[in-house]
Amino acid sequence: VAIRSALAANGSYQGEIWSRRKDGESYAGLLTLNRICDSHGAVQNYVALVVDITPLRAKQEELERLLQFDPLTKLANRILLGDRLQQALLRAHREQRALAVLYLDLDHFKHINDTYGHDIGDQVLLAVSHNMLAAIRETDTLARMGGDEFVVLLEDVGSPYDADELVARILQACAQPVVVGALLLQVSASIGMTVFPGDGADADQLIRHADQAMFVSKREGRNRVCRFDPALEADIQLRNQQLARLAQAIASDELLLFYQPKVNMRRGQVTGVEALVRWQHPQLGLLAPAAFLPVLQGDPLETRLGEWVITQALAQMRRWQADGIRLAVSVNIAPSHLQLADFAARLGVLLQRYPEVDPGQLELEILETDALHDLQAIATVMQACHVLGGRFAVDDFGTGYSALTYLRHLPAATLKVDQSFVRDMLVDPDDLAIVQSVIALAGVFQRDVIAEGVESVAIGERLIALGCDTAQGYAIARPMPAQALPAWLATWQPFPSWIAARPGG
Ligand code: C2E
Ligand code: MG
Ligand code: MG
Repeated sequence: VAIRSALAANGSYQGEIWSRRKDGESYAGLLTLNRICDSHGAVQNYVALVVDITPLRAKQEELERLLQFDPLTKLANRILLGDRLQQALLRAHREQRALAVLYLDLDHFKHINDTYGHDIGDQVLLAVSHNMLAAIRETDTLARMGGDEFVVLLEDVGSPYDADELVARILQACAQPVVVGALLLQVSASIGMTVFPGDGADADQLIRHADQAMFVSKREGRNRVCRFDPALEADIQLRNQQLARLAQAIASDELLLFYQPKVNMRRGQVTGVEALVRWQHPQLGLLAPAAFLPVLQGDPLETRLGEWVITQALAQMRRWQADGIRLAVSVNIAPSHLQLADFAARLGVLLQRYPEVDPGQLELEILETDALHDLQAIATVMQACHVLGGRFAVDDFGTGYSALTYLRHLPAATLKVDQSFVRDMLVDPDDLAIVQSVIALAGVFQRDVIAEGVESVAIGERLIALGCDTAQGYAIARPMPAQALPAWLATWQPFPSWIAARPGG
């Protein structure tokens, strides 16, 4: 009927047909029919042309397969997964059943690729996907999203308990050692999980939610499963926005460093300055670090900020030096930054850019709590920085739990008594006791000690009496822009009572 009406309308028809060859084998053909008319316009006859397009068809089918399957593992790819998930959602909705989406990322897979090469890496991916397939049910879908990332679609998970059991099996399957040639290799997986209809999102969102939960698994130590928490979603979005805004702030020079002097109270000498970051926000005004640093915690941007701070401090030291001002500058280093394996090497590169600056004048402040976290690793990084000439101070000392033995192994030249103890040491005997013991500890281990948060002359007097001569605080100076420092240096008057004070008095 289609052919007839097409011929009547246009005088021609084209379409695909299935036909049979003389040997009986069927083939795909492209049929073209043309009407031939005589000079008066009367139909004389029809010419049919059939072209065998079987090879073309095979190509097309292969193309479709390529579009739907991952070439390495032959698992479904993200396109096919999208289709299946959509259909599964319709079914789950109709039949009121639950469905789980797992996002799975292999842990430290990059390490295998880097160590043994991509061929071995591919073999591991193959073996692990094979093990995973064995762990799931026939009705489930395992898809490879690319790299070392997979998604598992678990249909009809009766109770959350069922799903948990399945997921535990998948986790185990991933951690199974695999044999590749002469190597016995083992990986693990971080899995994020979300369950429909508890999570009532659409197909794309479900995958994204599982992906987000996977990141939580990574953060919490890998080789585990985390469930997506809808309440987290809003938080994560907000954080991402804030991170993006901060990245922009760094790039467009909205951040700047303030400097707060440190002095030897008894001698009336300025011993150095601490660089403290500020954000000159176009709408919100000058922001203190507490307003924006917490967002960065653990994000790679923290390192970018840290290197920006070091660079700015070095550049400032060079400028001051040119004006005849030689001052030690300390910068605060975030834990995630300090813990980078190549921290010292990167610091070396930054120092090389400022050869005029004596590395010994750069001090790195690390928090006592970080220093404790992985003492061995931190001590190694610190030793490497020592070789470059850098020095360390342990910031906020007294807030962590530094045992004596730890302190012995920590190659830091200075202990900074936390300001929370200094502030109230004249009225709170417990705080005074802590300040006293930090000062004593520094003496025993032959470290310098500095008190931060000195807000009054009286506190300074008492510190000198206790044997701590160096201090930083509002009583001396507030943090100030770099260009204000020369004037401050020229006009600052030490307190007579500090100069007169004697240790042990
Ligand atoms: P921190 O390293 O312990 O720095 C001392 C903080 O105490 C500074 O606050 C300083 O302004 C404040 N301060 C100084 N003297 C007094 C005083 O007499 N009384 C009181 N109440 N406060 C005083 P700021 O600038 O708000 O910095 C807060 C924290 O943010 C710093 O504590 C440091 O941990 C962090 N931070 C600042 N700049 C950076 C940076 O560039 N990188 C990193 N990672 N952290 C930074
Ligand atoms: Mg500090
Ligand atoms: Mg501090």
